[in-house]
Amino acid sequence: MSESRPSFYDLDQAALTELAASLGWPAYRATQLHEWQMKGAVSFDVMNNLSKTMRTELAERLNAAPLELLMLETSQDDDTRKALFRLSDGHMIETVVMRYGDHRSVCVSSQVGCAMGCRFCASTGAGLARNLTDGEMLAQVLFMQREIGQKVTHVTVMGIGEPLQNLAALILFIRRLADPKGPHISMRRITVSTCGLPDMMLKLADAKLPVNLAVSLHAPNQQLRESLMPIARHVDLTELLSVCRRITEQNGRRITFEYALFDRINDAEEHASELAERLRGMLCHVNLIPANRVEGTPYRKSPADRVRRFQAVLEQQGIVVSVRRELGSDITAACGQLRRKRESWTTP
Ligand code: SF4
Repeated sequence: MSESRPSFYDLDQAALTELAASLGWPAYRATQLHEWQMKGAVSFDVMNNLSKTMRTELAERLNAAPLELLMLETSQDDDTRKALFRLSDGHMIETVVMRYGDHRSVCVSSQVGCAMGCRFCASTGAGLARNLTDGEMLAQVLFMQREIGQKVTHVTVMGIGEPLQNLAALILFIRRLADPKGPHISMRRITVSTCGLPDMMLKLADAKLPVNLAVSLHAPNQQLRESLMPIARHVDLTELLSVCRRITEQNGRRITFEYALFDRINDAEEHASELAERLRGMLCHVNLIPANRVEGTPYRKSPADRVRRFQAVLEQQGIVVSVRRELGSDITAACGQLRRKRESWTTP
């Protein structure tokens, strides 16, 4: 089913002001509409401070529900909830919310599918269908906020898709997230994760948004990286790391390198030494991810003792390291897994 009306969530405050003016409404109506947007309203009918005629006029022009919840999985301890949403053109995306300590962090998808083709990823099968709009990204945060009934404190653009391939919408999304009249999430609490596209990383750096940058490395050398991430054939690792170094020197912010550990693929002590050598002297942090197993791929999670040894080698060589907490491991928490599960239910 395709939706011809523009999405209410694609209208930022300025666009809502223009809309109100075009309808002959006073400016405070735009503020009311924005407030409803920030509450994650999915129907104009609930907007009880607008007249019935106004709500009808809006519904004729705009689609208030860019995301329809199809499935919601909740981990046993309720730390993690994962949603599968249907977009107004029928495509599906996933969003995850994780709660730990005072953090309530939403992991947002930036594209429908992904063109990067990482061998260990469940999202990659059908390739890229399209980019998400800034409104579709924002709606994921607002809907998860409404779902947990608590304010979201952190956002990671780490779900399905390569966000830097959707840079214009990403920048709009970040600005709307940080808007004091909107979700008001500090840019320092927003993380953009990329599989490492040097030109686009420099363009994002040019936008001078103080967000965190996470680069998926997953390998300490070109050959191994290419075998895990086909996009790496087009990106020289030495050049990528030199761009990372340049960005950290310009903005003074620590860069995060994501490193998913796969049993006997990239988790040997020699790999850790080689990685430490590459990163020496850079303002960085390595986040080790004991990756969830994804059905249909040969990659298995590294056992805990190999993870510990890998971490120890990096630390001995002066690299700051963390190991990602395994939140929601009892649900299908790796990106693309929920979508794949749903597709396997609906595919004969
Ligand atoms: S891991 Fe991320 S970048 Fe790689 S294919 Fe999956 S969604 Fe795309």
